[in-house]
Order: sequence, then structure tokens, then C-alpha cells
Amino acid sequence: MANSPTLIANTLAAVRDHSRRYQDFTYVYPVISRRSRGLSIGVNLNPDKLCNFDCVYCEVDRTIPGKRRDVDLAQVQDELRWLIQHALSGGLAREPKFSEAPELTRVVRDIAFSGDGEPTMVQNFLECVQAVVDVKRELGLTDTRIVLITDAAGLDKASVKAGLALMDQNQGEIWGKLDAGTETYYRLVNRSPVRFERILANLRDTARVRPIIIQSLFLRTHGSPIGTTELRAYCDRLRDIVAAGGQIQEVHAYTVARPTPEPWATKLSAAELEAIASTIRETTGLPVSIFD
Ligand code: SF4
Repeated sequence: MANSPTLIANTLAAVRDHSRRYQDFTYVYPVISRRSRGLSIGVNLNPDKLCNFDCVYCEVDRTIPGKRRDVDLAQVQDELRWLIQHALSGGLAREPKFSEAPELTRVVRDIAFSGDGEPTMVQNFLECVQAVVDVKRELGLTDTRIVLITDAAGLDKASVKAGLALMDQNQGEIWGKLDAGTETYYRLVNRSPVRFERILANLRDTARVRPIIIQSLFLRTHGSPIGTTELRAYCDRLRDIVAAGGQIQEVHAYTVARPTPEPWATKLSAAELEAIASTIRETTGLPVSIFD
């Protein structure tokens, strides 16, 4: 059954503009996220723009080199603390970008590791999670989730597993990317040197420990949406995870929102996305929310 993300209109400036830049901050930025169902404070662990995927729809402009390689945790905490207090005290609501939906800025729905690259590529992921947990506790944000938005390639690293365990104790949520059902389509869309098998194993093993959300972007490639056979294979991969004891809380199905680096990678219509979501629901029995 579909959830109710449409409660937040996708016409709002703060929804449409997902810029990861805020004032002169390096790591932290605010967005109104339909998938978070409100204010999400992003923590960009990758000002270096490092990623082990090269998705055809990626919005990160890698023609401009990234800034720095290390994560300054004291600065992450300073930026986070300041921005959260700014939002809770009504300051964000008065900014032009957020003034259309001021009520959405007063509750921090989540703090999300998401940015210009893959968060699990940092060497000290556990310390990054700890830094966020400390600020969340200090500010009494007991209901605020800590979300990891990930391509899943690094979920088997020791520091990442330890970070996930700490997230589990602090309203953690993992959104793992899965856009394909076969290695061939994965190579077309995600263009990663990481084997598809490893992505699937990481999603499965992570979902065995706690429920995860699968986030899947569907699009047109060279004019065609994902084919029936590929979509069936994708559903089979979800069923494989569940059959192996993995828990999938929900599937987030969405499409391209902004111009892509590849002109042949384009948006699906709302009807096409809905048809795909229906197939996933019928084939897997999993709840699917749509974000068009
Ligand atoms: S995983 Fe995310 S950051 Fe990496 S290439 Fe894909 S869309 Fe871009």
C-alpha cells in the first residue's frame, strides 16, 4: 500500500531545491524531504565527492573537484548544533527558501548521512555516527532518526557495521540503493566497479540485523523504461533478501527529479512509476511508496 508522501507538495521551493550548500557550511545543510516527511538535516561526509558508483542520474557535478578528504568532526558538530537550534527557534522558517512551509521546519525528522558521494567510504564512519549521536542527545532530539543513505557497497566494512550498530540504538534507519535486478542493468545504470553480488549480499546481511528501506530510482534509458524481465529480476532480488531472513520495511520508488549528466537518462511519468510500484507490490508483497 502506498504511504502518504504527497502530503508534502513537490512544488515547494525547499523540496525542489536539494542544494547541499548552506551559508558557508562545509558539511551540514537543511532540506524539506518528502521521503523524510519533513525537515531533514543532511550531513555531507563527502565534500571530496568520492563515490564507488557512477550513476547515470547522479546530480553531483564532478567536473568541479571536491574540497577536502578528511572529515572534521568538531566542525560537523558545530554546524549541526547551530543549524538545528536555528530551525527549532524559527530562524529557518524565516528564510525565503523555507518560508512557504514554515511549519515543516520546526521538527527535525531526521539527520541524514547523504551528500556529494558515498558516506560509507570515509575511514571513520563509526566516529561520524558518534558525533551525530552526541549532538542529537545533547539537544534532546529523542524522536529524530539518524538515516544513512547508501549505495550499500561499504556495508560490510567493520567501521561501518559498528556505526550501524550505534545507529540502531539511536533511531537509526538505513536506506540502501537497489536500482537493478541483474548485473547487466546495474552496470548500465550504476556503472560501479563493485560486483553486483556484493551489493546484494551487503543489503541482505544488513537487513538480517535490522529492517532496512530499499530506495530504487527508476528511469528511462535511451527512451525506454526498465523492461519487464529486468523488473521481474529486481523483484526476485527483493524476494531473495526476504527469503534469506532480511527484513525490508518499505521500498521507496522514485524517478529522476533534476537534469542528469547523461542526456539519455530521463524521467518516468507518474503513471509509469505507479505501474512499476504496483508490480513490485503485487510480486513481492512489500509496501512501496512513490516519490515522483
Ligand atoms: S551513489 Fe549517489 S553519489 Fe554515488 S554516483 Fe550514485 S547518485 Fe551519485
